[in-house]
Amino acid sequence: MALQLRPNCEYCDRDLPPESTEARICSYECTFCADCVETKLHNVCPNCGGGFVPRPIRPMKEWRPGLSVAKRPASTKRVHLSYPVEEIAQHSARLKDIPPEKR
Ligand SMILES: [Zn+2]
Ligand SMILES: [Zn+2]
Repeated sequence: MALQLRPNCEYCDRDLPPESTEARICSYECTFCADCVETKLHNVCPNCGGGFVPRPIRPMKEWRPGLSVAKRPASTKRVHLSYPVEEIAQHSARLKDIPPEKR
């Protein structure tokens, strides 16, 4: 099972192509842009409450057989927020001061 490379920020809907250095993911692959993680979410995933890390970039070139973004393409299914933004703000405020390893 390869990491699911989702095409957009769930919060602001900006495009996050596989080569983007702005993509951030939680352990469940919930995907947001760096800007939203910092300024809107305060490193709290609105879906699971976990923290974020930079999404690894899948190589464009097939350095090893079958492994490249062409052979294992990114998802095209755009994902949108499951909660209202006001509720997400409360959720972030509740959890942001607890470090991810203690949540
Ligand atoms: Zn965003
Ligand atoms: Zn999550």
